[in-house]
Amino acid sequence: MTKAVLSSQEMLAKLVSFDTTSVRTNLELIHWVQDYLSGYGIKSDLIYDETKNKANLHAIVGPADKAGVVLSGHTDVVPTEGQAWDSDPFTLRDQNDMLFARGTCDMKGFIAVALAKLPQMLDRPLHAPIHFALSYDEELGCLGAHSLADHITKMPVMPKLCVVGEPTLMKTITGHKGICDLECRVHGKESHSSLAPYSVNAVEYAAELITYVKSVARRMANEGPFNKAFDPPFTTLHTGIVKGGTALNIVPNLCEFSFEIRNIPEVNSEELVEEIRQYAFKNLEPRMKDIDPKTGFEFKYTAGVHSFDIANDHAMVDLVLQLSGANSTEKVSFATEAGIFQNKGIPTVVCGPGSIAQAHKPNEFVAKEQLVKCENFLDRLVDTLRKAA
Ligand SMILES: [Zn+2]
Repeated sequence: MTKAVLSSQEMLAKLVSFDTTSVRTNLELIHWVQDYLSGYGIKSDLIYDETKNKANLHAIVGPADKAGVVLSGHTDVVPTEGQAWDSDPFTLRDQNDMLFARGTCDMKGFIAVALAKLPQMLDRPLHAPIHFALSYDEELGCLGAHSLADHITKMPVMPKLCVVGEPTLMKTITGHKGICDLECRVHGKESHSSLAPYSVNAVEYAAELITYVKSVARRMANEGPFNKAFDPPFTTLHTGIVKGGTALNIVPNLCEFSFEIRNIPEVNSEELVEEIRQYAFKNLEPRMKDIDPKTGFEFKYTAGVHSFDIANDHAMVDLVLQLSGANSTEKVSFATEAGIFQNKGIPTVVCGPGSIAQAHKPNEFVAKEQLVKCENFLDRLVDTLRKAA
């Protein structure tokens, strides 16, 4: 086995060369990382999805029987279709101290720096281990991280910290809102519009429920709960898509709409979903079913991400602040896998190179200066884990 030695930039060039757009497999990248790690005698566990086309990777560097630190990153990237790129999105372009390619900032930059540090991690014995935790399908709603976090929490010793390296300009992020996406299908009863009272208008019943969703949104905005660390400082709800009806003289028999909840950690989004469902079942459906028992509402979860919140005075937040050289924490509005790890009982912080402002856009880039900051962060982490008792 050869021990490949790559700089952070060389590692990043390698990682972005794999097209891991979420609709595709990520296995080429995962197998490459597995080979790289095994070159150093590090064994990886792969946790596959049902299709076996995608996998998470978990590997431990150092003593597995000690509480270590998880470095977590997602391997998938968002599509480049329809975006005007100035160069091939899967070839790293080095220009003006910036590195351009899909995934450079979201979030192969962090993974690249972490993997490139491997020789240094093995240089002298660690007293507590570093875990590499690479997931799939984050961009589709944090799908892979659940089985990855499960796998890690089944280890004999729980890690003491998880760092999710999403782009935060290396700032220490201690919370974000959760997301809960739902699709609602309203089944009505068709008829000629002149006979409207004898039928069930799916668009109108959808509108009644959409209005109720809006009333919940107003209540959240007016009555809270509030958390000033977030902007806006309360849970938001909104309906983003409505489809229904074919002609003005036909009472529509189907209407579909999608709504989302973005909850602060103080609010349980499942309770709000239940409130909305019960309103549909108890206040709207009886009138529909009086006309035709086959009519009614159907709900489906389409995506969800846990909210995430860790106390600013948590010892692990202190540690991350020290490692990054920052002196204050922030909350952000974008969602990450952090809530999944945190919910499994692993204290979690989000901190990684690059800016979210560059993510998901054409000509996505990470500044080289950001990779250097991340290298310094990991150098200090490795030092700390050598000293730790
Ligand atoms: Zn990301």
